[in-house]
Amino acid sequence: MKQIYDVAIIGGGVVGSAIARELSRYDIDVVVLEREADVSRGTSSKNSGVAHTGFNVPTGSVKARLNVEGARVFEQLCAELDVPYDRIGKLVVALTEDEIPDLHKLKATGDANGVPQLEVIDGETANRMEPNVPAVAALHVPTAAITCPYSLTIALAESAVNNGVEIMLNTEVRRISGQEGNFRISTSQGTVHAGLVINSAGLYSDHVARLAGVKRYKVWPCRGEYVIIDKSKSHLMTRMVYPVPPKGGSGLGVHLTPTVDGNILIGPSAQYVSHKKNDATTGSMSRILLKEAQELLPGLDPRDVITSYAGIRPKTVSSEQGGFGDFIIEEAPELPGMMHLVGIESPGLTAAPAIASDMAQWVANYMPMNLKEAFQAGRDSIVRFREQPIETQAKLVEEDAEYGHLICRCEMVTRREVMDAINNPLGVRTMSGIKLRSRAMMGRCQGGFCSTRIVDMLADEYDTPLTDITLKGPGSNLFIGSTKDLRKHEN
Ligand SMILES: Cc1cc2nc3c(=O)[nH]c(=O)nc-3n(C[C@H](O)[C@H](O)[C@H](O)COP(=O)(O)OP(=O)(O)OC[C@H]3O[C@@H](n4cnc5c(N)ncnc54)[C@H](O)[C@@H]3O)c2cc1C
Repeated sequence: MKQIYDVAIIGGGVVGSAIARELSRYDIDVVVLEREADVSRGTSSKNSGVAHTGFNVPTGSVKARLNVEGARVFEQLCAELDVPYDRIGKLVVALTEDEIPDLHKLKATGDANGVPQLEVIDGETANRMEPNVPAVAALHVPTAAITCPYSLTIALAESAVNNGVEIMLNTEVRRISGQEGNFRISTSQGTVHAGLVINSAGLYSDHVARLAGVKRYKVWPCRGEYVIIDKSKSHLMTRMVYPVPPKGGSGLGVHLTPTVDGNILIGPSAQYVSHKKNDATTGSMSRILLKEAQELLPGLDPRDVITSYAGIRPKTVSSEQGGFGDFIIEEAPELPGMMHLVGIESPGLTAAPAIASDMAQWVANYMPMNLKEAFQAGRDSIVRFREQPIETQAKLVEEDAEYGHLICRCEMVTRREVMDAINNPLGVRTMSGIKLRSRAMMGRCQGGFCSTRIVDMLADEYDTPLTDITLKGPGSNLFIGSTKDLRKHEN
């Protein structure tokens, strides 16, 4: 660790990682301070994974500009980093005649925001496109795409590291003092000095601002729950299916999103919660989500649900205020040299590359920045064995026998892929880190078969006792000792 940097970025979500990667193009010293044991532990791994087009964001807002700009470069970014991107398109469906005028309003907003190729289509055309959806009309959004949000975040962070950025994990920022040119950032791993600071702490950006004495921001947590439908139902739809957005709310309504891995997501709900850590899922909300989803796709069955998760929106409006809250991206006048990114809720994933370019321009106002010749846009990603044609699979097994050994049967992940995930450029050693990088433990059995094998591989590779293996970092150890030792202890 160098301890003196030109720029310190607080938060290793998709936004912080995109900024880090963008700044890594230049000859400046950049550090990311992330309190968790991996990047993408916050909202960035718990969302719908949609590269939104921006047809439903108020024209003239910061969100609209950054959404449309982000969407424009998203496909190329994913291609550079070898991250899944699939432009499957979207239908916003009217289920009754009364909802049809709303489709025209959405199209008008989209047109004003510069979203291409929007078209209101009749029920017959919509039914031809999605025969299982009882639409009476729909807004067709052909440029909407899906991605894998945590793969993108990890890829951005890895690319940043490959290009010289330092990422300090397990590093919680606790206090910020000093001013532009010399900020002193006290962390759980010691003090870091930086000329400029970017507060990209997601849900906690108000708290991080307060650590620097800036008290003007407040973030309200609003939980969005999802249920995940088994891959065996992926044939029910081919593109995203959204309802007409609920009146008065700022959300998109409960929608159906195919994932890049072949599942269908139902959600998210929208419920303000009192605590930012409250990302629990509930049986009652799962039932509501399924019921609402069945209106859009009657072929869904409760037995198709394999698991659930929730993400928390960082809202800048309280539940009482309601309505639209824009992204806040500003240097507070009382503390120049520190940029605050507050309320980066949806479409923050899509907007991340555009936010990153804005941040590079901001940094350039303060210091000379020259493009590095050695910048590498691409990265070595993990070869997905199951996605390869049979001839390539045979060749891979011939060259490396570890491709011939299946560790996760549900997702067909080989031992080589798990080993590559264990040896990741960020040095992440947690079970959830291996899961996000390899997809092992993500299938129908949710790790029932492979998790013990992966624990053994981690322990062997790092020559560490099983009791040191954690789910997601310090305090989440999977084992407390061997049963024989514990029995002896009890007697
Ligand atoms: C339910 C839901 C659905 C969504 N769907 C979409 C979608 O389909 N498309 C889309 O474009 N957007 C979507 N979004 C929005 C998108 O997920 C977010 O805008 C984006 O992930 C925000 O990223 P971030 O990096 O700002 O925040 P985060 O991912 O939360 O990252 C912030 C990081 O800061 C770290 N941190 C916090 N405090 C400290 C500290 N003191 N010291 C060090 N580190 C700290 C945290 O650990 C965390 O890793 C959705 C959001 C939700 C909640």
